[in-house]
Amino acid sequence: MGVLWLLAIYSATFVLYVVLPGRWVEGYVRDASGRPLRYHLDGLFVFGVVIATYVALAARGVIAWDVLYGYRWELVATAIAVGLVFTFAIVLPAPPTGKPLAADLFLGRLENPQWGRVDAKMFLYLVGAVTLELMLLAFAAHHVLVFSWDGSRGIIVYTALFSFFLVEYLWFERVHLYTYDFVAERVGFKLGWGCLAFYPFFYCIGGWFAAGSLDPDPSPLRLAAAIALFFAGWSLARGANLQKFMFKTRPEATRWGPFAQTALVDGDRRVLVGGLWGLSRHINYLGEILMACGLAIALAHPGAWLYPLYYVGLLVPRQLDDDRRCAAKYGALWEEYRRKVPSRIIPRVW
Ligand code: NDP
Repeated sequence: MGVLWLLAIYSATFVLYVVLPGRWVEGYVRDASGRPLRYHLDGLFVFGVVIATYVALAARGVIAWDVLYGYRWELVATAIAVGLVFTFAIVLPAPPTGKPLAADLFLGRLENPQWGRVDAKMFLYLVGAVTLELMLLAFAAHHVLVFSWDGSRGIIVYTALFSFFLVEYLWFERVHLYTYDFVAERVGFKLGWGCLAFYPFFYCIGGWFAAGSLDPDPSPLRLAAAIALFFAGWSLARGANLQKFMFKTRPEATRWGPFAQTALVDGDRRVLVGGLWGLSRHINYLGEILMACGLAIALAHPGAWLYPLYYVGLLVPRQLDDDRRCAAKYGALWEEYRRKVPSRIIPRVW
């Protein structure tokens, strides 16, 4: 049954992604002729329909609130298999990049595959987000059903914060088009298997540990600290990502909210050095790590800390890579940015 559940979630998400109305926007990435790629964005709508359907079915007693919890291992195994099939199907028919086959399989060959309305990257992030939300709801529901509302404050706060994270990510779906994944990554195992298997089932690792275990519920003070840390991180990450998005899309603006859009300029090339981007060269990564810490603090189980640890492992090498990429792209301008803003992620520390 777990196999059928996962295939149903993936298929429903795909069908809704294709048929629901959305808006067409131009992205940041350009095609071979220099025109910006266009994207049909309806992620939040699709997410809302799938989650509302799940909630409606559970509320009417058609399915148990924690039905996916019972199938969790089958779901993971199926997602791993689907992710592998997807990887081979998207990589092998495409022209080789010149790297060894293993590298092509891992990193991918196609940069931004699109078929009509369907953009592979947007769909992959969407299906990952939908499945992750369903797993979060299943973990929380199981805990409440077994241990009651009173003993489940931690996992409820955790689920609410994580759900906010997913909904707001889809709300700002367009901003995502201006990130490293679209600019610098191809579609292979890393992105494809990552979104189909790893993202929905590992990001909720705290839920896996907490759902069935009666750890003492975190104190109200600890939960308040978790919420405060999460939103402090969110302000840095969302603030920085939006500030850069405005900088790219409205180059004439001199301010964005409280922040000066100060730029280092060399001909056509511009690097943002004002506001949040003047604190560190990847302050958004610090924000993301703080959000993950907030989520871990909301749960008493120490296994929840694997999530922020994973972020450190992901974002530190990514900062080093992106810094190299930007140094090659911007040359002396990037050197100047490095001099003005020496910290990579944590202001004044690193
Ligand atoms: P960035 O959004 O920081 O994008 C990096 C690119 O932005 C650079 O390659 C460069 O591209 C441009 N850029 C960087 N600095 C400047 C500057 N000062 N001025 C102008 N342009 C600049 O990184 P990511 O795409 O990695 O991350 C985006 C968000 O997604 C972050 O909040 C991150 O934490 C989050 N994230 C979340 C993950 C998750 O699993 N939840 C995974 C990875 C990231 P160019 O010059 O070509 O414009």
